[in-house]
Amino acid sequence: MNRREFTAALAAGALSTWGGGRHRLPWMSGAPGRRVNGDRLNRHLAELARFGANPQGGVTRVAYSDADKQAREYVMGLMREARLTPTIDTAGNIIASRAGTDPNRKPILFGSHIDSVPEGGSYDGNVGSMAAIEVAQTLGEHGTTTRHPLQVTIWQNEEGGLYGSRAVSGQLTQAELSNVSNSGKTIAEGIAFLGGDVARIAEARRQRGDIAGYLELHIEQGGTLEREQIDIGVVEGIVGIKQWEVTVTGFANHAGTTPMDQRHDALLAASRFVEAVNRIVTGMPGRQVGTVGRLQAFPGAPNVIPGRVVCTLELRDLDAAKIDALHEAIVAESTRIGAQNGTTFAFRMLHENVPAPSDPRVRALIAAAARELGLTTKVMPSGAGHDAQAMATLGPMGMIFIPSIGGISHAPKELSLPNDIVNGANVLLGALLRMDQMASG
Ligand SMILES: [Zn+2]
Repeated sequence: MNRREFTAALAAGALSTWGGGRHRLPWMSGAPGRRVNGDRLNRHLAELARFGANPQGGVTRVAYSDADKQAREYVMGLMREARLTPTIDTAGNIIASRAGTDPNRKPILFGSHIDSVPEGGSYDGNVGSMAAIEVAQTLGEHGTTTRHPLQVTIWQNEEGGLYGSRAVSGQLTQAELSNVSNSGKTIAEGIAFLGGDVARIAEARRQRGDIAGYLELHIEQGGTLEREQIDIGVVEGIVGIKQWEVTVTGFANHAGTTPMDQRHDALLAASRFVEAVNRIVTGMPGRQVGTVGRLQAFPGAPNVIPGRVVCTLELRDLDAAKIDALHEAIVAESTRIGAQNGTTFAFRMLHENVPAPSDPRVRALIAAAARELGLTTKVMPSGAGHDAQAMATLGPMGMIFIPSIGGISHAPKELSLPNDIVNGANVLLGALLRMDQMASG
């Protein structure tokens, strides 16, 4: 059964229960050995999806909500069943350990997050979290002990801005603890709610070299893998993001009495700017993206020529220099646009995320693990942010993507297929075992 047939069968309700007797999927009859239990993994995912289930068919499980806390209890229960020892660090992350044969080695970390956006789906973060526990359980059942200690990590409040993982990497500032999260609680209140200890948050911090490596399985959240019928994405890195607030200043005047050739219409200039951003970003080869996501005209009345527009510009790419080159070209073009009708453009930087490349050695072992399983791979950037970018500052990082059906994410219709999920977990297992052999720390 290929992916398209599977989707059709799923839609027809033929596969309403994972692992039901009628349809045997390839992974159900998988060879013993280095393979996860696919039935169990998909069952755990379905159980996790009950916490914060929303009427649209996805989950609303924002960080620090009751649903988040209950789901974490469920997850810690699974960890104990997998013979891991879960603890909550002072930053509120769940860290579940399994000893290695050599206690002097640095731990290998792998995991994801289980918080969601409001009205989100049941796969973002959950796939990687459940797969990480499944991998640990599989190792236990096969009596495999790694050389390195293992730590399954469930990072808190990924969706709000990678709070848990950034506390560990040392990127979280004191001031950010007062930010208000989607739950209504501040970050500090939320961390306390989850069982962390804000006064001792610095104890959660780790230094570069404290970890032997980090692996994360995640849904792609874009449509590339499904469209190209590829099983596994080997993530090249997480793109850098720069955002600016752009203010266009013209002159507000009477919309009835001001002739068309005497207007300094800020909204007209802003419209040309939106078009120019798209033209410049698509005019260069590469996979960079650029967006004007917000635009507000002032004074904002039907009978007044807009004298001022405030909009945003966001640019993303794996290469920081490319982002800067695009920004320069856009600024130059905005000066030309302004000269056409006597308006000016001012750019103020709002936010920057530096690109986080994955480690080429980790990419190679992910690709090797996929190859061993007979899966096709594609090296690709991640356009979305992930906890892995914080971990990349501490040690060699690698990410594994599986297809997102229809490229839909952060929405109830988010979907990844059971077979792809199991493939991803098996690649995670294979990559972890290879990292254990190769990592020197
Ligand atoms: Zn995620």
